[in-house]
Order: sequence, then structure tokens, then C-alpha cells
Amino acid sequence: MSELSRRVAQAICAARKTVALTGAGISAESGIPTFRDPGGLWDRYDPEEYATIEAFRRNPAKVWQMMKDFTALKTARPNPAHIGLAQLEHMGLLHCIITQNVDNLHQAAGSRNVIEFHGNMRQVICQRCGTVLPLDEISLDTLPPYCKCGGVFKPAGVFFGEPIPPQALTRAYEAARTCDLMLVIGTSAVVYPAADIPVVAKQAGAQVIEINPECTDLTGRISDLIIQDKAGVVIPQILAAINAMAS
Ligand code: NAD
Repeated sequence: MSELSRRVAQAICAARKTVALTGAGISAESGIPTFRDPGGLWDRYDPEEYATIEAFRRNPAKVWQMMKDFTALKTARPNPAHIGLAQLEHMGLLHCIITQNVDNLHQAAGSRNVIEFHGNMRQVICQRCGTVLPLDEISLDTLPPYCKCGGVFKPAGVFFGEPIPPQALTRAYEAARTCDLMLVIGTSAVVYPAADIPVVAKQAGAQVIEINPECTDLTGRISDLIIQDKAGVVIPQILAAINAMAS
């Protein structure tokens, strides 16, 4: 086990309130490609063509077809990083997770206090009447899917150009302002306003620790420490160190 993992374990045990901010990197080991890493989604799908709200309005069937093809989102299972964070919450050592992911893997791992900053892809929302339904309850045989009112259904994830769900925004900033330790895991921290969350925590006096194989825009500027390794390796090490400290 690395000395850095032991240091983070100590920081978590000493903290009054720990909050985690997670991004696509935490789900990479579950087989869901990240956006910016080589071989990631954006190598295959131009975000201008697929991930903006304008693109959806222009051609909803095309965006739905990509969603349908994105089978990893449906078959992926939580990995040791998701499971480790859920255990930390159950041990009373993690207040909440603010996630930019739309894959439901934190909840599938057992985490309860999850703020979905970018919505989720398990639900759909009618663009005319606002009806929200589980994705499983609508047919994708013909695309795009339509609501009874005649409006088009959109996946309930936040597309570029759409606002962050107001409740998630308020809860995330509140968590950032009031924590004294923030773990920033698997995010390149370039998508705003999510990238501001660690800055808010830092300005409010929190210690900020990154877990990411690569340095980010936060490294050395906002974060106090980075463990440069995969989340699925580091988080179980941190848990093992906490358990060793307790025994
Ligand atoms: P990003 O693709 O910009 O960055 C991913 C980061 O994860 C990189 O810094 C990379 O070095 C790091 N990383 C890669 N493998 C890792 C691992 N095993 N352990 C820890 N870190 C690892 O992702 P982002 O910052 O989350 O921004 C992309 C946006 O796209 C988000 O807003 C998110 O909503 C969306 N997105 C979501 C999913 C998902 O739900 N799983 C997947 C792709 C994109």
C-alpha cells in the first residue's frame, strides 16, 4: 500500500465532513469510456453533433441512436472504487458524492447520498410537457421516442447548453462550502460549473485531494495532493488503511 493512501486515510478519519466529487474516470474501470482520454467517446462522437441541446433539437433520432448504441451504459457494473465510496458512507466517513456521471453506478454500489450534477440517463423527459419516465418504460423501436402529448422524449442527462438541475446545483455548492475535505476522483475538471466545485471547497478552507492517473487543471493550484493512480486501486487501499487504523 502506498504511503499517500495512508495519508489520505488519516485525512478522512480526521475530517469533520468529507465530500467526493467524481467524474467519468471513476467509471472507466467499469468499462464506460471517458470523454477525454484517448479512445474515449469524443474520438467517436463529435460532441457538437451529439452532446449539445442544439444537436438534440436538430436531430433527436440521431442522438437517440448513439444512446441506443452506447450499450456499456446499460451493462456496466460498479467497480471497487464505487463500492469503496459506498462503504465509506456507511462507515459515516463520507457525507455525500457529487457526481458528474450519468451512469447510476454510485447508487448501484450502495451509495445513498448522491448528487447527480449532470442528471441521469436512466430517465427520459418530455420536451413539451415535462413528463419524466424511467427509460425502461418507453419503447426505442422507433426513434425518437414520443410522449403521449406528442412531445419528443430526451434522455434526462444534462446536455451541453442546458442548465444544471437547480436542486443539484444548490446542494453541491452547499456541500462544497461546508466540507473540510474534498476528494476529487476521475475528473479532468474542465467542464463548468462542475469544475468550480473544488475551487469553492478550497476557498472555504477545505483540503482538496485528487485521485487521478493524470494531473489536471486543479493539480498544484487547487489540490493539496494528488495520488496518480487508478481509483479502483487507490480507494480500496485507503479503505484498507482505515480498517487497519481502527483495529
Ligand atoms: P473526462 O473524460 O473529461 O476526464 C476523465 C478523467 O478521469 C481524466 O482526468 C482521466 O485522467 C481520469 N481517469 C481515467 N481513468 C481513471 C481511473 N481509472 N481512475 C481515476 N481517474 C481516471 O471526464 P469528466 O471530467 O467527468 O467530464 C466529462 C463529462 O462527460 C462529465 O460532465 C460527465 O457528465 C460526462 N461523462 C459521463 C460518463 C459516465 O457517466 N460514466 C462517461 C463519460 C462522460
